[in-house]
Amino acid sequence: GLLIDELRLDNGFAAMPAAYYTRLQPTPLSKPYLVCGSAEAARLIGLDPAQFAEPAFIDAFTGNSLLPQSQPLAAVYSGHQFGVWAGQLGDGRAILLGDAEATGSAAPGRLELQLKGAGMTPYSRMGDGRAVLRSSIREFLCSEAMAALGIPTSRALCVTGSDARVLRETPETAAVATRMAPSFVRFGSFEHWFYHNRHDELKALADHVLDRCYPELREAAQPYKALLIEVTHRTAELMAHWQAVGFMHGVMNTDNMSILGITLDYGPFGFMEAFNPGHICNHTDQGGRYAYAMQPRIGQWNCFALGQAMLPLIGDVEETKAALSGYQAAHDAKFDALMHEKLGLQSMADGDVALIDRMFAIMAESHVDFTLFFRRLGDLRIDEPARDEPLRDLFIDRAAFDDWAVQYRARLRQESSNDVQRRLAMHAKNPKYVLRNYLAQVAIERAQKKDFSEVQKLAGILSRPFDEQPEHDAYAALPPDWASELEVSCSS
Ligand code: AMP
Ligand code: MG
Ligand code: MG
Repeated sequence: GLLIDELRLDNGFAAMPAAYYTRLQPTPLSKPYLVCGSAEAARLIGLDPAQFAEPAFIDAFTGNSLLPQSQPLAAVYSGHQFGVWAGQLGDGRAILLGDAEATGSAAPGRLELQLKGAGMTPYSRMGDGRAVLRSSIREFLCSEAMAALGIPTSRALCVTGSDARVLRETPETAAVATRMAPSFVRFGSFEHWFYHNRHDELKALADHVLDRCYPELREAAQPYKALLIEVTHRTAELMAHWQAVGFMHGVMNTDNMSILGITLDYGPFGFMEAFNPGHICNHTDQGGRYAYAMQPRIGQWNCFALGQAMLPLIGDVEETKAALSGYQAAHDAKFDALMHEKLGLQSMADGDVALIDRMFAIMAESHVDFTLFFRRLGDLRIDEPARDEPLRDLFIDRAAFDDWAVQYRARLRQESSNDVQRRLAMHAKNPKYVLRNYLAQVAIERAQKKDFSEVQKLAGILSRPFDEQPEHDAYAALPPDWASELEVSCSS
């Protein structure tokens, strides 16, 4: 692996005209220390993970020293926040260092490196340009957990911390999360130029995204339309992934929607525990705009906001509508496919939609833990209902479960499903371990006392979410009573 000073950064985004960003330096933090690192993320850019604790590594990924060839900048964007046009936002605390070659990745290309929490920028508005340790650990853990679950996401290389104070509801300490993605361009980056009526800049941004991230779409008869079709498709599929694993983003504003269709900007996210389709993970989201069941619709709403911004490029309302029209079908197809995998079904049959709807209905009625349900469902044996106990016990309404299980078994028999094979296949699709809020909270509270071992341990467990790891059974357990008091807000 490469040493930190051997990392060759390029500056694809900095090569764009100055209108897209402001060049600036990160603001150093006093006496930074390593909180956690992802060896897997390091390998994606060929970095040797053995250096995580080296001062040169910590300084570079706190913003206290600059990587060679780095041309740091903060990008401008705008966006719709909670359905309302918010005007200019931008990287208020994120600083792009440049892009590195993705040598260790299955998908070759480049990965941009961004420091989140590295100081004020011209887009900081009322903010201090900093991020607290708590939210940085949450972003780190969840980015890497989502990647391990096979869900498109930005990655997190590491978190460094400092004793420097940051004031939120209470005094906390500062941290910097280094994240990586092929691009951090958002739907709101396009909206920015559209709402300023600057169509030249809009076009150059689309060209940049096409050239760097979607070169194959250059062949299309209408590349900008093809771009909108592809982003719409990817977003629809991403929403299906989120729904199928019970992930709730919490702040699906258009400035948090990636032009690559990857999960971006981890804030007050959550994983569904007691199933409730109306669950709102973000305490700040009073109206529930971003509740679990709303996510697919909001994803579509956001694609329409992007479509509107791309209208001057596509040039025609009907063409733009046509590009957006594939959303529902793409979402439903992906969701159906994922649900079939989760239920261990090899084929699609009439009645499957009803079977799945009924399953979610009884899960909701009994407040069944989302992750435990699917994991235990994999253990079901077709001809041994007497052994359903651990699964059945998740239900308050046992009779409702029994009725549903009769239908499910009939469906499995219909395709001559094999218990042993199905169990293996289902356990490879239904994670045993997800980032439950309370698990993050325990790791954060330890880290706030300077013991970072629990963050790293939790990251390790979540990097193998489908593996049994019997020694870590406790991390797959139902949340303790105190967890119901946990509130996660936009404060970060
Ligand atoms: P979010 O809802 O977290 O995606 O943030 C929305 C906007 O607020 C983005 O432009 C962020 O860069 C900015 N922002 C959030 N927190 C801070 C902060 N502490 N300092 C400066 N800008 C911030
Ligand atoms: Mg954001
Ligand atoms: Mg944020």
